[in-house]
Amino acid sequence: MKLREIYSDKKSRPVISFEVFPPNSDNGNLLDEIKVLKKYNPEFVSLTYGAGGKGGKSFELLQQIKALGLNVMPHFTCITSSKESIKSALIKIEQAGVENVLALRGDIPDFEINRNFDFSYANELVKFIKERTNLSIGVAGYPEGHIESPDLYTDIKNLKKKVDAGADVIFTQLFFDNKKYFDYVNILRDEGINLPVIPGIMPIISEKQITKMTSMAKITVPDIVKEKIEQYKNNSKSLQAFGIDYATQQCLELLEKGACGLHFFTLNKSHSTSKILDNIKGEEWKI
Ligand code: FAD
Repeated sequence: MKLREIYSDKKSRPVISFEVFPPNSDNGNLLDEIKVLKKYNPEFVSLTYGAGGKGGKSFELLQQIKALGLNVMPHFTCITSSKESIKSALIKIEQAGVENVLALRGDIPDFEINRNFDFSYANELVKFIKERTNLSIGVAGYPEGHIESPDLYTDIKNLKKKVDAGADVIFTQLFFDNKKYFDYVNILRDEGINLPVIPGIMPIISEKQITKMTSMAKITVPDIVKEKIEQYKNNSKSLQAFGIDYATQQCLELLEKGACGLHFFTLNKSHSTSKILDNIKGEEWKI
């Protein structure tokens, strides 16, 4: 099913999706984790490209996840890709039965900074995909603004270019303060952007993970999260348990106030995401 149908369908339960990345080692462990997550009936598994793992292995992994009976939404980054390579990859995934993609610019690698690229921004990739395929297209949104953007408003103007080019759904960067998400959705609506905005949830697993994420992106870390990270810096089990409770509260409030889906950045582990879903699931989920 295409993204625009998935999120427009009146469902008795929220749309759940899981993001994973191609591991550096063989795919076996990740596939085991995905098998655990499968019981939560995800609408799709989203598969990153080039982030946190090796992009080249993506297609093999995509097929392995599909063989588990799950839909896959591959990510495409365009900043270091040629139009030709994107074109042939699009043909390949459509032939493999893929219906949805997440279209991204990607981060510009330091060593490539002066090169001329076929694509400069994600809106160009969205247009390119839209003109050549029947794929439904997701794009990234940043409730606190993208790290390169001078302010949130400028970033939203740029998001509008992706929407106008044919995006169907917006998947957000992770956030720990729900107010940032709700304010963001309100501004988007004021700016005439009416697409579904799917909140990205990343359970806190370790201090290292939070430090890395917050150094790469504009993400406010609330005082309570900072305190617990400090308190449990030598106790990873307690920090993980806090992360599950914290994300559970986040998800409950997001759903209560109208989010139509939850997109989990699983970090290739099923434990925290499963616990969160166990905490929030309703009778109608049939898990
Ligand atoms: P863009 O939308 O192109 O925006 C990049 C910057 O340029 C922003 O500051 C924007 O305001 C500005 N901008 C955009 N368009 C224009 C324009 N036309 N003119 C001038 N300025 C413009 N990275 C990966 O490498 N692989 C992944 O699989 C991956 N998955 C992700 C999944 C999600 C849900 C999210 C939120 C992010 C993901 N990322 C991934 C990270 C993403 O690639 C980076 O954040 C990247 O720096 C920006 O990508 P983008 O598609 O948002 O870029």
